[in-house]
Amino acid sequence: MFYYIFSDLNEHSILDNLKSRYGRGLIYTYTGSILVAVNPYKMFNIYGLDMVKRYEGKPLGELPPHLFAIGSVSYTKMIKDNENQVLIISGESGAGKTESTKLVMQYLAAVNRSGNNLITEQILEANPLLESFGNAKTIRNDNSSRFGKYIEVFFKNGAIVGAKTAEYLLEKSRIVTQAPEERNYHVFYEMLEELSDEQKAKYGLQTAPKYFYLNQGGSALIRGRDDADNYRKLTAAMDILNFERQEQETIVKILASVLHIGNVYFKVVQENNHDRAELGSDAEIKWVAHLLDLSEDWLKQALTSKVTEARGDRFYTPYNLDQALDARDAVAKALYCRMFSWLVERINMIICRAEREKSTSLAVLDIFGFEDFHFNSFEQLCINYANETLQFFFNQHIFRLEQKEYSKEKIRWEHIEFKDNQPTIDLVATKPAGILHILDDESNFPQATDNSFLEKCHFHHSGNELYDKPRMSDPEFYVVHYAGKIKYNVQHFLEKNKDTLRSDVIELMCESKNQILSQMFKDHRDRLITKTLSKTTGRYVTVKPRTTTVAASFNESLLSLIDTMSRCNPFFVRCIKPNAQKAPMTFEDIVVLDQLRYTGMLETIRIRKMGYPVRIKFPHFIERYRCLMKGEPIRSNQVPWDVCKVILQSQGPEFKDEYQIGATKVFMKEAFESRLDTAAGAIK
Ligand code: ADP
Ligand code: MG
Repeated sequence: MFYYIFSDLNEHSILDNLKSRYGRGLIYTYTGSILVAVNPYKMFNIYGLDMVKRYEGKPLGELPPHLFAIGSVSYTKMIKDNENQVLIISGESGAGKTESTKLVMQYLAAVNRSGNNLITEQILEANPLLESFGNAKTIRNDNSSRFGKYIEVFFKNGAIVGAKTAEYLLEKSRIVTQAPEERNYHVFYEMLEELSDEQKAKYGLQTAPKYFYLNQGGSALIRGRDDADNYRKLTAAMDILNFERQEQETIVKILASVLHIGNVYFKVVQENNHDRAELGSDAEIKWVAHLLDLSEDWLKQALTSKVTEARGDRFYTPYNLDQALDARDAVAKALYCRMFSWLVERINMIICRAEREKSTSLAVLDIFGFEDFHFNSFEQLCINYANETLQFFFNQHIFRLEQKEYSKEKIRWEHIEFKDNQPTIDLVATKPAGILHILDDESNFPQATDNSFLEKCHFHHSGNELYDKPRMSDPEFYVVHYAGKIKYNVQHFLEKNKDTLRSDVIELMCESKNQILSQMFKDHRDRLITKTLSKTTGRYVTVKPRTTTVAASFNESLLSLIDTMSRCNPFFVRCIKPNAQKAPMTFEDIVVLDQLRYTGMLETIRIRKMGYPVRIKFPHFIERYRCLMKGEPIRSNQVPWDVCKVILQSQGPEFKDEYQIGATKVFMKEAFESRLDTAAGAIK
């Protein structure tokens, strides 16, 4: 029995099929070799060891669709072909990407019976750790990942020898501000729930509602989530991952400091006709200086004035209130973001062992899907650009598969043209006038504003059919993405693009007497500085490069990700969220159809439609349309190929471009299939 669902692809058949399967509790469906997973919002008992064993080593399509089938096929292919594999899991927030990623990892751990158990356990334990620090409650998902990740698991002779995680675009703004009903990162609440009163006293900590950085979204609790228990799991994970006492202590100190910093407030003092911000109280600063082993004066200075150096002299320009609040938030964001990256580096050091040489890998990409909100900003442009790039990658793959299938079936295909989304990628990111490049140029130009950026975009792209200006003079532009036309508002684009770790904050933290903390920031600083061989002296000199922007560094990591993935054999898992209420087993057509578009499924159909989207194996074709032979018997010397030809020709010579007969299948345009169906129906 074959379970390849939707061998004939069309929008409504996909939707109906998904819906009827979902109604029967079947959350997985294939379209070709792509797995579609519709979130059930309730746990099915289909991920046990019995299932792992059932799917192990089985080819795709032999058993009902399942995530483990994809796990199994990719694993087998990796070993058989000695080729790296990648599972690209996409979908919108709450669709089930992260759960799927975890299940794939669990599958790999379970088939890895001969491998190193400690390393496998460490790989699995890295997950709760990253979730505590990188996930948060949003209105869409109680456990929303606020960063993208790419996990490579390395194998030697079929056994796990290590893993490596790369993280993308951790959401920074959440550290200092949250929307109603949302929370900051889980770890803060978990820590405050679990620490004893004595421990809390040691860090000067109170309860969550007392902190400005934790109480802006309202409720600190999530139904069905045990924060205290998660903190215990987090510390257990750190133990398994060999985090030393000192390191764990430093992490708590950093977390506590972020909370203290958030409670720093300022008062405004008039001085020479200028407003100057002054600290409202010393209490929080004292705690931070104590916990981070920093000079209290330096910290105060960093929060209230800008330091400039000229000819060896230092000048202090006092901040106004807004600038001081920005500086405060910048310190908090820098501490948290740097710690997050450090955690990932630290985990990689443990689980990414030297045995990687000559190993093959199976990677999983769990990355934010296409976004279209009421208000789309810089973050959405980055995310949608990433999805556009992934879609290009996906299209190329589908295109190659099509090409392979056509040549395997010996179908002439020179007339079939495939269009890709390169023009949109060019509009957003290609040098010199891509939107993100214009933004980078403007970000390095002191007089630039969000508006001057917008003007330049309009100037360069007004003629582009994939770009649009707003009708009013709103600060907006449109981009036509593969998933639809999106309106972006340019407010704060420049500021957000420049929001990398501030160099004054980096310098401050490097001065900490806490070795772990200062090293964390020194490592980062060293990476920013490139060493160049001086032509005149022949010695290496350090140069501070042009400060990188968020867009530039994101683009760089995205291109390197695509480069890595293009050397792997890909599998695609498209996660679908069936309703916006997180309600179990509730399927809403419009919600799903939108996502079929956003995940590029409909794009696949389009690509297929340009060729011959309907393919039917000879025996099945003959069975289905035999009646069109009008009772003429099949002669014994007639091979299936000839029989199919007779049937196809029954419709007249004018349809000869509507089909081709391959080596084992008949290829048809959809309209021609309908024609055959109608003709056959009339006879029956
Ligand atoms: P995403 O990473 O795409 O934002 P998640 O993987 O965090 O979404 O899933 C959101 C929620 O949906 C999970 O917390 C869980 O409750 C539910 N969920 C997702 N996948 C499954 C699944 N396969 N079975 C049961 N529930 C699931
Ligand atoms: Mg997620």
